[in-house]
Amino acid sequence: MLKKKTLKWLIPLSIFCGTLYTSCSPHTSVDLPDPELETIAVKDVTDDAQLRVSIENPDGATGQEGSNKLVDGDTTTKYLAKEFKSLNIDFQFDTAKLIASYEFTTGNDFDGRDPMDWKFYGSDDGQNWTELDSHMGMQFRKRRTTYKFYFKNEQQFTYYRWSISKLYNDNMFQASEFRLIQMPPSSQKDAPREKIDSLSKNGVSLVFINHSDKSELAYQERLMNTYFSVYPKLIADFNPDAKKKLYFIIDPTYEGAAYAFGDVVVFSYDYMEGNPTDGDVVVHETMHHIQQGYQGNVPGWLVEGIADNVRYHYGIDDPDPWTLQDYKPEHNFDGSYGITARFLLWIETHKNENFVKELDRALRNGINYNDFFRQSLGKSIEDTWSEYAQNPAL
Ligand SMILES: [Zn+2]
Repeated sequence: MLKKKTLKWLIPLSIFCGTLYTSCSPHTSVDLPDPELETIAVKDVTDDAQLRVSIENPDGATGQEGSNKLVDGDTTTKYLAKEFKSLNIDFQFDTAKLIASYEFTTGNDFDGRDPMDWKFYGSDDGQNWTELDSHMGMQFRKRRTTYKFYFKNEQQFTYYRWSISKLYNDNMFQASEFRLIQMPPSSQKDAPREKIDSLSKNGVSLVFINHSDKSELAYQERLMNTYFSVYPKLIADFNPDAKKKLYFIIDPTYEGAAYAFGDVVVFSYDYMEGNPTDGDVVVHETMHHIQQGYQGNVPGWLVEGIADNVRYHYGIDDPDPWTLQDYKPEHNFDGSYGITARFLLWIETHKNENFVKELDRALRNGINYNDFFRQSLGKSIEDTWSEYAQNPAL
């Protein structure tokens, strides 16, 4: 049976009067570090623990990618868990430890297998758990790289649990290494956590996760407004089976503009800071969620061209800082983004105003895009482009 340490040491502040403080009241008190906890050394204590995982590798704990590889001190080996739904990684110590940091090393490949949402707990009995840290919408840009996490904790526990509820974009979890670090209170850091806002409206939900140091983002409201006013229309017009709950992540470590996968849109912090009026980026990216379910081999330039065409029609920014690209002789139908989008708009204007909606449905049904051009317009995509090139006016 463990005895919990008292967390706060209340000492009359009057003893400091005249020494540390210029003014003070003799009746207030201050938190001081527990002198006994301060004797604890900063130390990686992972090797003192017994490891248990809720999903073992099919080859067993000692297999080539078994759970033992998570704690073997070697970042060139990894633990791989298949058929992920959620995953508990438990550590049991013989004597209670004061853990206030953990270190996670990414796998050698596929960042989709990285953890994205998790909680970290301590327990005296392995039954009742106290939450010590949590993260949501995490992304790790580098492979075989160690990321360190810190939190304040003045309670020694015999059990610790890393409980992962969501992976980045896969159904397999992997990690090269996970280490537990013991720390006296004076060495502990209170690392800032991501700021999370959740809202449901118009039949859809959004979790907005801000990983930047700023507590308020000038463009957050604009991105959320665009999502709640446009995404329900895209669902209704294109794909009633599309996901009704998405996650927006503001990421200071991403150097592009924005991208979509799974149920997530990642926005570069730098891009949004530089383009705070670009709310219609939401239309393009969430159209990619609508496009999930395309069958067969749909080329990327067509996916991007449709997304930009839809941005043109459904966007609400006025003016939209992003424009379709007027025809130039060096363009071709597979120019992607604004080039393909304007070609599609020309078809909608002159041939069939529902062309993009019908094309989207055809791609969802596994129909080859060129077959669809022939069926719908009576000519190949190349011949349609030639006609467009001769008179590209809208
Ligand atoms: Zn795109």
